[in-house]
Amino acid sequence: MEVVDITLIGSGVASTLTVIEIFRELLNSLTGKKITIAIIEKNHEFWKGIPYGSRSSVNALTITSVYDFINENERRPFFEWLKKNKDEWAGWYREQGGLTAARWLDNNLPRIDNEEWETVYVPRFFFGNYIREKVLALLKAMEEKQLAEVRLIHAEATDIKQKEGVYEIVLEQPDLTTSVVRSRKVVIAAGSAPVRKMCDLTIDGVVYINDIYEPSVNDNIKRLEAAFEQTGNEPNNNVLIIGSNASSIEWLYLLEGLPSLRKLVNKTVIISPSGSLPIHISTEALTEHPTPNIDRIKAGEKYTIKTLSDAAAADIKLALKDGANMDYVATVIGSTLALMEPLGEQAKKEFYCIYGIKLRDMFRRSGPEYKSVANLLMDAEEATVLKGRFTNAEPSGNSTILHYQDAAGQPQTYPLAFKAVINCSGSDNLDHSSSRLLYNVVNNNLCKMNMSGKGIEVNDKFEAAPNLYVMGPLLAGNVNKLIHFWQLENASRLTYLAPFLAKELLAFAAIESVY
Ligand SMILES: Cc1cc2nc3c(=O)[nH]c(=O)nc-3n(C[C@H](O)[C@H](O)[C@H](O)COP(=O)(O)OP(=O)(O)OC[C@H]3O[C@@H](n4cnc5c(N)ncnc54)[C@H](O)[C@@H]3O)c2cc1C
Repeated sequence: MEVVDITLIGSGVASTLTVIEIFRELLNSLTGKKITIAIIEKNHEFWKGIPYGSRSSVNALTITSVYDFINENERRPFFEWLKKNKDEWAGWYREQGGLTAARWLDNNLPRIDNEEWETVYVPRFFFGNYIREKVLALLKAMEEKQLAEVRLIHAEATDIKQKEGVYEIVLEQPDLTTSVVRSRKVVIAAGSAPVRKMCDLTIDGVVYINDIYEPSVNDNIKRLEAAFEQTGNEPNNNVLIIGSNASSIEWLYLLEGLPSLRKLVNKTVIISPSGSLPIHISTEALTEHPTPNIDRIKAGEKYTIKTLSDAAAADIKLALKDGANMDYVATVIGSTLALMEPLGEQAKKEFYCIYGIKLRDMFRRSGPEYKSVANLLMDAEEATVLKGRFTNAEPSGNSTILHYQDAAGQPQTYPLAFKAVINCSGSDNLDHSSSRLLYNVVNNNLCKMNMSGKGIEVNDKFEAAPNLYVMGPLLAGNVNKLIHFWQLENASRLTYLAPFLAKELLAFAAIESVY
């Protein structure tokens, strides 16, 4: 059976950015050798992934301003693309995005004209369209020069096995038939691990959405509308959201722009241990960034990675006092990383896999559009955030009742019943993942889960095993000279890493035997 040179599993931006860099390298080096590349994607859409393609709403915005969202190497070309294609995307977006789009365009087109990039939070599909256009143009050039043959395979990879010196990737096609692809090099670029299932609701009339992006946000909106319309205006027409991360605030933003659904929903209750939604971003230029807790350590106080992280947490609180001031947060993190250096490798691993993630959760943030809409719905008492830990959702008639633990750990029952539950919680550890691929590669010891439970351990060549690479959020929690991030759910960091991975994949010595 034929052996492909490089196979990428997943066709989100982590994969696409890597493919772009592979193409650039090949076009620049003009080796004359034709390589074969396979890209396996379980969704029908290639090149965009979950946040930047049709599984998200067209109205979903970037978490940070477009200036921070785009890596500095890509800023100029992306901003030029935005301006050059403005009439085309603005017209399309106005037609597709309803009230939310009209308001966004009114507020943001003048800012784009004035290049006020630090104040614009763009609809994420812009980036998906940009990146797709870019990869397709390079693909055409590659094919004309016969430098690569690229195969797009619509299937889910369910396992990877080592056989006779190459990897065999087991695939399940949409019609549930199976096949294998054999490949010399494989990249797992499957995004973050899927969300943890929170309950098994099978009550007639109650909608349980385990993953809002599956099959797509628009499909889930239609499901909710249909269910709520059927029941009419009942007092139980409430929505429970489990978790208060970026997707929860995004949901409120989308809901506010859907008058037909909004009028059917009495109340949206968001339950989370933090009891708060992501905070607003403050761009105030502060003359000072006081770090009194870190300063005590700098002055000679004895410390461990735990006490250093506690000190960082106390100083980050100061940086969040009037909104998330990210320059101030960067000062705290910078000092923390410097003080971590003498503590050794184990301490670093603990920081990137455990303490750093806790610090990151403190400064979850979102832009002014999301925040103002969330505040509007809270002020109108259409939405509320409940501080507590979800225990279970108990069937009750044709709705469901929320049981939870309050901030003091006491069991409580929420006074309203719900017609819909949306799971916006985190993912399972990889050794329990509902992704068959991730479950298998970890439990069959092909890859090692790192201390965070959410990432795969790799070396500084991105390898989890010889010629088996990882790209995207699954790299989080690694500490080596190239990869040292506690989270990689970040387009800018992926853009930074992609050229390094492309070079590793094209290290021809390792794949020479193909020619
Ligand atoms: C809703 C949302 C909003 C976000 N907003 C921002 C933002 O504003 N700014 C920012 O910097 N980052 C944001 N992120 C972070 C984002 O995850 C990264 O920026 C980036 O999209 C990760 O890319 P990826 O390709 O690794 O993941 P994904 O986009 O998840 O793509 C992975 C792809 O792999 C496919 N796949 C998975 N398993 C298999 C399999 N077994 N076989 C075949 N195919 C498979 C999936 O279908 C998917 O298309 C957001 C993430 C989400 C989910």
